[in-house]
Amino acid sequence: MSEHFSGRAPGAALYVVATPIGNLGDLTLRALDVLRAAELVACEDTRHSARLLQHYGIAAQCIAVHEHNERAASARLVQAVAEGKVVALITDAGTPGWSDPGARVVRSLQEAGLPVVPLPGPCAAVAALSAGGLLDARFLFAGFLPARGQARRGQIESLRDIDAALVFYEAPHRIAECVADLASLLEPERELLIARELSKTFEQIVRLPLAQAPQWLAADAMRQRGEFVLAVSAPPRRAGAALDAHATRTLGVLLADLPLKQAVKLAAELTGAPRNALYEHALAQAAQQSED
Ligand code: SAM
Repeated sequence: MSEHFSGRAPGAALYVVATPIGNLGDLTLRALDVLRAAELVACEDTRHSARLLQHYGIAAQCIAVHEHNERAASARLVQAVAEGKVVALITDAGTPGWSDPGARVVRSLQEAGLPVVPLPGPCAAVAALSAGGLLDARFLFAGFLPARGQARRGQIESLRDIDAALVFYEAPHRIAECVADLASLLEPERELLIARELSKTFEQIVRLPLAQAPQWLAADAMRQRGEFVLAVSAPPRRAGAALDAHATRTLGVLLADLPLKQAVKLAAELTGAPRNALYEHALAQAAQQSED
């Protein structure tokens, strides 16, 4: 049963176990080993997790550890691990601690000097990005936006200029207003990835220009049902944005003594910066100087 633990049974520790976000087949073999060996399973909602545990014939003792009792419940989990027990921590779906409780429990175990072992697996944001086709190299996971309109819009504005794709979770009853706010506050050419009902029967993954997204959502009521991950591609590059300080400084020195074309060519050779970005930057500088 414990072949995924090098032939040994899992030892006493808190195992932070990722569980399926829809399809029960997405439980890893290692997660199954731990849940079968666990003497105590800390669940966010014991009734919800009973379905997963029953599906795999696991009859471990479950206790509820959620947002409202995490601190108090941690003491019990610390004691259990200290007594030599195998304890698993799971949430309703996906990876504990990821827009979910878990961090406080983990800290309690760490403070008590007890082992904490992560068991990686499903995570809605990672699943969405893996099949979403966004080309950005960097992502900022922003979790749930505020429920109230003004606070939500304020937060979107605070994220607008970050040079990374923005990833959000959203509930079905707020999806339309959230997408409308993203479309009205961010550049229209940014792409929106909508990943709905991942790993479930009505899974849907679409990528479209942000400006078209409110209309797309409104065209079919089904498109607003279920669980959502949203991701907006990074802001479009502005002139000069691709240049670092070294490139702009070098260009400035060369422009003082050379014609624009030659300065751009040399700056590109010296710094490795893209020639078109240098050219745009030089033109912008020249326009600025003629205005002054
Ligand atoms: N810990 C989880 C994880 O690893 O992804 C996230 C928990 S968070 C409380 C729940 C949110 O995750 C949902 O409201 C939804 O935005 C997103 N989510 C969870 N399951 C999903 C699924 N199957 N498809 C799309 N989004 C999902």
